[in-house]
Amino acid sequence: MISFLYELFAQRFAQDQVAFRLPDGNSVSYSALAERVARFAHALVELGVSPGERVAAQIDKSTDGVALYLATLQAGGVFLPMNTSYRDAEVAHLLSDAQPRVFVVTPAAQERLRAVANTAGVAHVLTLGQAGDGSLAELANEQPSRFTTVERSSSDLAAILYTSGTTGKPKGAMLTHGNLRAGVEVLHQFWQFRPGDVLLHVLPIFHIHGLFVALHCALWNGSTMWFEPRFDAERVLELLPQSTVFMGVPTYYVRLLAEPGFNAEVCRNMRLFISGSAPLLPDTFRQFEQRTGHVILERYGMTEGGMFVSNPYEGERRCGTVGQPLPGMSVRVANEQDQPVPANTVGGIQVKGPNVFAGYWQLPEKTAEEHTADGYFRTGDLGVFSDDGYLTIVGRSKDLIISGGLNVYPKEIEEVIDALPGIVESAVIGLPHPDFGEAVTAVVVPESGQTPNAEAIQAAVKSQLAGFKVPKAVHVVSELPRNTMGKVQKNVLRERFGR
Ligand code: AMP
Repeated sequence: MISFLYELFAQRFAQDQVAFRLPDGNSVSYSALAERVARFAHALVELGVSPGERVAAQIDKSTDGVALYLATLQAGGVFLPMNTSYRDAEVAHLLSDAQPRVFVVTPAAQERLRAVANTAGVAHVLTLGQAGDGSLAELANEQPSRFTTVERSSSDLAAILYTSGTTGKPKGAMLTHGNLRAGVEVLHQFWQFRPGDVLLHVLPIFHIHGLFVALHCALWNGSTMWFEPRFDAERVLELLPQSTVFMGVPTYYVRLLAEPGFNAEVCRNMRLFISGSAPLLPDTFRQFEQRTGHVILERYGMTEGGMFVSNPYEGERRCGTVGQPLPGMSVRVANEQDQPVPANTVGGIQVKGPNVFAGYWQLPEKTAEEHTADGYFRTGDLGVFSDDGYLTIVGRSKDLIISGGLNVYPKEIEEVIDALPGIVESAVIGLPHPDFGEAVTAVVVPESGQTPNAEAIQAAVKSQLAGFKVPKAVHVVSELPRNTMGKVQKNVLRERFGR
């Protein structure tokens, strides 16, 4: 049985079907994509990429970017996409850590990144633009249009994705051909992809969400994608009537709801809206249903293995939860001794399954540290199962506040504050405190024109939760700091207000 990923995708490509529809009106068929992939694969081999070697890329989203990813798989290499907002120091760390054979950059950044790559000892730096331009595209243009896929086993590496973690140095999550195959198979089936589906793709493709969830599902289905360089609410409104599936981070949904023209009519051909990468606020979930009649499907996963838990396609998509474990996944909530805890008890979320990653690149100790004796990966997220098996994420364990020796879960307090009139959202953090160890601190975003009253917020929390959960201080900001995937950067808040 073939287990190497590119071959599995290619077998499913509907040759004369459009793969990508582009903003300039052009499109790329699946057969044109397959040829482009082959040319890139030849180019990589010409550059000396042998099986197992890394191909790193910090490039803007484009169909050639997709071809480069697939070509790396076809040539037996290991793809390493970099977040486009990484600065030189982060790029330098990734390059010296992963030692790629080839580093592909945008034409505009080439001078600067060539110097960074030289210091890290990278053999080849090439460029790739968004319009079929760049030195790698030129090299590919000269190559033959067929390439015999290099055989790989399911335990061979396909990609290394550095975690977007909001703190600490990025670590490379190693994903195998087997991991990625298991991931796409289960999602394709669970979310009921079908002939005729059209995916509106607006996510970046350097991250698991845009690459291994959105793009993979569409490729596996041989679907047409609207392939947009970025999320733009007005453009999404234009394309939704011609789409059936949309995947986004919660911020996208908030922005869509801010568009007066966003309504059920615009969504008339849609069958599925999926949200993930950060918590979807209950308010957004409800407003979305009221406005469009669609219930957003929220799911949960991470770079270290893809998706673990999802709300059902059919059946109740429960607000505030991420649903139930996906088929084939073992998901448990455990205490500090790695023992599963009963329903309705908060603990660390641990996962095991065929899509869970093969470890952190060159960090065997860190990998071992994050796994239990019985082989579960500690996600670092805290959660709680309901009696009927729906999982709610309570926060990252490193965001847990310990005040006066008592555990405080930020989300519980955030929910109370978010429900107050005049408040858009909030983030609750722990700041060093001489008596309590950490002091519960709230950072709130008011609706425009509103001036929140700290005492009123504290009183509201006090009326609903135990006294030790009441924020000792309330700060007002116009917006919360977020990374590119919409995650609130609590470390930035801790730094800003902890001085
Ligand atoms: P990343 O590796 O960048 O995909 O980040 C994974 C992390 O994002 C998880 O460990 C969670 O903390 C968070 N995350 C992903 N999906 C959700 C969700 N639906 N609700 C809350 N947090 C989420």
